Amino acid sequence: MTTQLVTPTSNAAPAQRRIEGIYQAPGLHWVGDGFRVAGYFSAIPDAVRKLSPFLLLDYNPPYDYSPTDRPRGVGVHPHRGFETVTIAWDGSVAHHDSAGGGGVIGPGDVQWMTAASGVLHKEYHEREFSERGGIFHMAQLWVNLPRAHKMGPPRYQPLTASQMGQVELPRGAGQVRVIAGEYLGVRGPALTYSPVHVYDARLHEQGAASFDLPAGYTVAVLVMEGDLTLAGAAVKQGDFVIFEREAGAILAEARAEAHLLVLAGEPIDEPVVQYGPFVMNTREEILQAFADYNRGAFGTLED
Ligand code: MN
Repeated sequence: MTTQLVTPTSNAAPAQRRIEGIYQAPGLHWVGDGFRVAGYFSAIPDAVRKLSPFLLLDYNPPYDYSPTDRPRGVGVHPHRGFETVTIAWDGSVAHHDSAGGGGVIGPGDVQWMTAASGVLHKEYHEREFSERGGIFHMAQLWVNLPRAHKMGPPRYQPLTASQMGQVELPRGAGQVRVIAGEYLGVRGPALTYSPVHVYDARLHEQGAASFDLPAGYTVAVLVMEGDLTLAGAAVKQGDFVIFEREAGAILAEARAEAHLLVLAGEPIDEPVVQYGPFVMNTREEILQAFADYNRGAFGTLED
């Protein structure tokens, strides 16, 4: 034990949450022929524990697609045991699943798809966007489900731009769109199975914002654009910043126009066994997922 001097804190600014690490994506890869993504978590040691309840972040930075009459994307594939969250900034994506969920999301919209006990789905560029071509900018986040909900019914939440929580920051510093959870008392529309906060934040040059998330939560920030100081560290476009699970606010101060994806959630303290599109708690449950998939229990969906 070391002896510490306790300093009075009543008038002091709250402590800043410390940075656990700053990570870069290991390069870009294709998911099907429609999503050119940086798979952030694959380069992070112990990511499953460190980032719980989040399982994956595939970030598709802006990419210009040529016009085509054959929509690009990913064909029919299964999921079980978690949620896929697709966030659109440019371009549009059509989704169909075997539980009857489906729709098109465009700029500002989010699709929050709970696979739970299992769906087949396909994810494609929407037809008119494909024919027109243009800039496509999206992210897909995978959120784990607690054991109690892994085998529950699938759910599909189409969340439109107008439904998002909207926070105008003081002094014209920028805007925070609340997709899930809440920020400064403004709630986002997503229904979640464990406490999760997802913000889409834009800061203007010289703009500042503070993110004060509960102690014990996983907190991470993807810098999609900008050059800023985050919790005292200089960060730039492409950086993925993970914070310690401790109390303390995160101050973001932008030197240039910045665009951030802020992820926070209460860790799910359960074993994670993943095999491709199935994320369960045990190996037996993964084998069961394969058996159920092979006997057609995930339903049917046309290619
Ligand atoms: Mn999928």
